[in-house]
Amino acid sequence: MKVLVTGGLGFIGSETVVALLEAGHEPIVVDNLCNSKIGVIDRIETITGVRIPFIQADCRDKEAMDKIFSSYQIDGVIHFAGLKAVGESVKLPLKYYENNLLSTLVLIQAMEEHGCHNLVFSSSATVYGDPGELPLKETTPLGTTTNPYGETKKMIERILTDYAHVHPEFNIALLRYFNPIGAHPSGLLGEDPRGIPNNLLPYVAQVAIGRRDHLNVFGDDYPTPDGTCIRDYIHVLDLAEGHVATLNKLNENPGLVIYNLGTGKGTSVFEVIKAFEKASGVKVPYVVAPRRSGDVTANYANVDKAEKELHWKAKRSVEDACRDAYNFQKANPEGIA
Ligand code: NAD
Ligand code: UDP
Repeated sequence: MKVLVTGGLGFIGSETVVALLEAGHEPIVVDNLCNSKIGVIDRIETITGVRIPFIQADCRDKEAMDKIFSSYQIDGVIHFAGLKAVGESVKLPLKYYENNLLSTLVLIQAMEEHGCHNLVFSSSATVYGDPGELPLKETTPLGTTTNPYGETKKMIERILTDYAHVHPEFNIALLRYFNPIGAHPSGLLGEDPRGIPNNLLPYVAQVAIGRRDHLNVFGDDYPTPDGTCIRDYIHVLDLAEGHVATLNKLNENPGLVIYNLGTGKGTSVFEVIKAFEKASGVKVPYVVAPRRSGDVTANYANVDKAEKELHWKAKRSVEDACRDAYNFQKANPEGIA
């Protein structure tokens, strides 16, 4: 398939481009580089031997999107493009609603006009809010989100669901990612946050190479076995492969489908630190800090539906992901140029 990958130079997008190439697809990337670097294209070429077509454009730019659909016979779109920093979304809500909602609306309009009917959307487990039941199933009612970023995901899910009702010719997959971590084993691709990392793994990796002094563990008084929060951490390569499996599913014309992409296994913050230390051989100094507002105690996925319908399963461990994240951080102490 010729697959348009929006946000395809970012953390998950770039790994997915590699997975698409390895599966024999032809990815075409559009990215405005607001949170990624052009050098990622060279790195994808080093890994796969393929120079991917790249268009630097904003998905909110209808003219630019029209031009892409006119230039390439696109069979399907994977829509990663979006802003994702939870804390920033609280400070700058309009920026988040504008970017994430408008880019999706413009994309759908362009797809409709150009007769492209297969879409995979990057949603998030954040749409479940503070879970009443665990593990989370796709049928678990959505909860109250705690920040504008999460709300954009919930709103876009609703928009795409409403749209799919009246456009039966469209196939749309809403993929609810749990916590993507890790990096490409080559050390060439990985998470490269600007400024101080918000997420646990990039922060731990920066502490491990000495770029930061210590990790703050946000709360050790949660009602969990060791007192720290529990998440479902999934290796980004497993997640990338989940997208390839989802494209195959869309070829069966299923209409609107929803899948949790996780491992089904919960891991605490302290367990992540231990796994990282074991995988890297490096001590990760930490101090226990107050809880971070908006954090839920625990969430992890029920992945039965994805396994059964996508014939896909996460294969890699948290320790594998920690090893790959450490190697990436060591090889790129200041990120990707
Ligand atoms: P990322 O920031 O690394 O990648 C997103 C890419 O989109 C970047 O390269 C950025 O430059 C680009 N972009 C943003 N707005 C754009 C626009 N208007 N037009 C064109 N390009 C634009 O993020 P990621 O971690 O790879 O996440 C990809 C998607 O998955 C996002 O939608 C994110 O919300 C979602 N998601 C991420 C996580 C996570 O923990 N990383 C979890 C759940 C869902
Ligand atoms: N966390 C932490 N210190 C950090 C960053 C995160 O203790 O510097 C904790 C956070 O409280 C949460 C877990 O690690 O329990 C995962 O946080 P992350 O931001 O990576 O993911 P999310 O909150 O989106 O699940």
